[in-house]
Amino acid sequence: MITSWTCPRCKRGFTRKNQRHACGTGNRADVLRDRPSEVVELYAALEAFAKSLGPVEFVTRERYVLLRSHRIFADLTIMSDALRLAIHLSREAKSPLFIKVGLDRKQVTHVAKLHTLDELDAMKPFLREAYEYSLS
Ligand SMILES: [Zn+2]
Repeated sequence: MITSWTCPRCKRGFTRKNQRHACGTGNRADVLRDRPSEVVELYAALEAFAKSLGPVEFVTRERYVLLRSHRIFADLTIMSDALRLAIHLSREAKSPLFIKVGLDRKQVTHVAKLHTLDELDAMKPFLREAYEYSLS
C-alpha cells in the first residue's frame, strides 16, 4: 500500500494526511462469532483469495468487513447463512449471482449473496478486477 500518512494511534497507513477513520481494523473473531461452519469456511476462502491478490487490509466492524487496498474495493456482510459481498468495479458486469447492481459515483457496485465455494469461485475474477481497479 502506498501510504503518505500513518495514524499515530492505530498505525494504519492512509494516502491522505489525517484521513478520518475509526482506529484499528477490528477483530476477525467478532465478525464470525456464532456463525455456522459453512459461513466461516466461505469467509476463510474469500480472505485467502483476497490476500493472494496483493496487500489487502481487512477492516471489520460488527458484521461488516471492508476490503481495502488504496481504497475499498469490496465489502462484506456476514449473514446467518451467507456472505453478502459487494464488489466495486469501474464498469457494469454480468453474473447470474448479482442480486443488485448500483451506480455509486464513479464506480458500479455489484452485490451477490454467497452460500457455497462454487459461488465464491464465480466471484473471484470480479474481485481481482475490483482490486486492480482500486490500485489505478
Ligand atoms: Zn487510527
